[in-house]
Amino acid sequence: PERLGPKPKWIRVKLPTGKKYTELRNVVDKYKLNTICTSGSCPNMGECWGEGTATFMILGNICTRSCGFCGVKTGRPQTVEWDEPEKVARSIKLMKIKHAVVTSVDRDDLKDMGSIIWAETVKAIRRMNPETTLETLIPDFQGNTRNIDRIIAVKPEVISHNMETVKRLTREVRIQAKYERSLEVLNYLKQSGMPRTKSGIMLGLGEKEDEVFQTMEDLKNIGLDILTIGQYLQPSKKHLPVKEFITPEQFKKYETAGLKMGFRHVESGALVRSSYKAQKHLT
Ligand code: SF4
Ligand code: SF4
Repeated sequence: PERLGPKPKWIRVKLPTGKKYTELRNVVDKYKLNTICTSGSCPNMGECWGEGTATFMILGNICTRSCGFCGVKTGRPQTVEWDEPEKVARSIKLMKIKHAVVTSVDRDDLKDMGSIIWAETVKAIRRMNPETTLETLIPDFQGNTRNIDRIIAVKPEVISHNMETVKRLTREVRIQAKYERSLEVLNYLKQSGMPRTKSGIMLGLGEKEDEVFQTMEDLKNIGLDILTIGQYLQPSKKHLPVKEFITPEQFKKYETAGLKMGFRHVESGALVRSSYKAQKHLT
């Protein structure tokens, strides 16, 4: 097969800098706080942390699923730590985070699929950080509405669930998930009156342009508010290969089309991650 050339220049990122970044980095190192930003070496740390945004992962760091794009370990998950909500809330306080994104591994092993810890985490964050706004980036909870209702009940400002890819590639990219089920979850959130619903997809996995447009249509049809589109990058050689580097022009094309379709916000660009510029999505 044709080999992909080196990473194009728009993918290479500068190391994060800035006073705010350095301050936060010191706090994170000192208290050994867990953020996705650092564990995933996200290219946007300088920018996000500078704005007071960070992403926290709950329910451990071992997932019951094994999505082909994801750098999180798969295996037997840890036991639930009931003080985790307090710990996360404290991290947010120490880091003086203005807008926190919370996400989790999938816990298909638990009866409540982790939804109780999820709700407790939001409550603990609210108690300790009444000024901080929240985005909850939730798993599909296998479409179980009792679990989803627990998140809805604690009213995060933004609630998101990622489609990750187009319909045709869903099986390959996230084997235990289903395209239609994820759409249903987002539809349920919207129908339940969540004011800001959000989803994200990655490009460069072999999807065609019309498939991307179809996914955008599907999301628009359920009334989704916010869409993020980014470039897939392979976390290790064992993960799905990058099939293509999407050009900045192509990203722009999706953004323009998305805004025309009526999404409230569209972030589309190579380094866009689902929590990138997350604060902006409060408006
Ligand atoms: Fe953290 Fe998300 Fe920003 Fe990356 S894009 S630095 S993971 S908040
Ligand atoms: Fe990664 Fe989420 Fe898939 Fe688990 S469910 S492997 S954390 S993308």
